[in-house]
Amino acid sequence: MKYLQMFTFWLVLFLSACHSPDQLNSSSHESGKLRVGFDVDDTILFSRDNFLKAPHMSTDPDHVDYGWINLHDSLNSTIIQPVADLIGFLRSQGHDIYFITARPAANGDAVARHLSRSLGFPIVKDVNLFFSPKEKDPVTGHKFTTKHKVISKLGLHIFYGDADNDMVAASVAGVRGVRVVRDARSVEAYSSNYFGDTRSEPKSAAPYSETLYQQFLAKGVGPYGETIYPIYSFPLDTVISLNP
Ligand SMILES: [Mg+2]
Repeated sequence: MKYLQMFTFWLVLFLSACHSPDQLNSSSHESGKLRVGFDVDDTILFSRDNFLKAPHMSTDPDHVDYGWINLHDSLNSTIIQPVADLIGFLRSQGHDIYFITARPAANGDAVARHLSRSLGFPIVKDVNLFFSPKEKDPVTGHKFTTKHKVISKLGLHIFYGDADNDMVAASVAGVRGVRVVRDARSVEAYSSNYFGDTRSEPKSAAPYSETLYQQFLAKGVGPYGETIYPIYSFPLDTVISLNP
């Protein structure tokens, strides 16, 4: 009987060890280690100029050539230094860093190389950089983020991003969402998907004026209840130019 109990115990232990959960967050053996995710555009990269220069695939202003964009960050995008400093701080404490972008994956390796060179540690597509484009609901026609699927699969604990969709993705995935304040130049160029749209005429999809937006920033909380990372704006001289 004793041997049967021992056999059962070791069998259960063996099967438990073989079990491979969908999520990677069963990191009890890594107590205290965080998996921290970051969006790319307007979170770690100020890429407005890259988007403005990109060829369009149609008359739809959103239909830009992402293969071209992913190849040209090294020429047209700059690192947002306060976020790079945050990443350096987190890595110094032993935490793991991931990037999740809604860009399509065409030429995604070029983005990985650019981030690796700029941030000084290896960033590899589909290892710690993930491309997760929006998908359209076939019934409503609304476009929705898919980043929550990657956030869940990676078992992230925190996700930093500038867009409303980043906060939605974090919330759906059940992790802390932190809003990185979008550079004023990007707000001017791409106001949608940012506190609704602070540049729009008031409407249900865009209820927040510039004044209300500033109140959100002053209180440090956003419309999804998210924390706001306090880089409300930063002068040009704090942005490292990566152009040769
Ligand atoms: Mg973004």
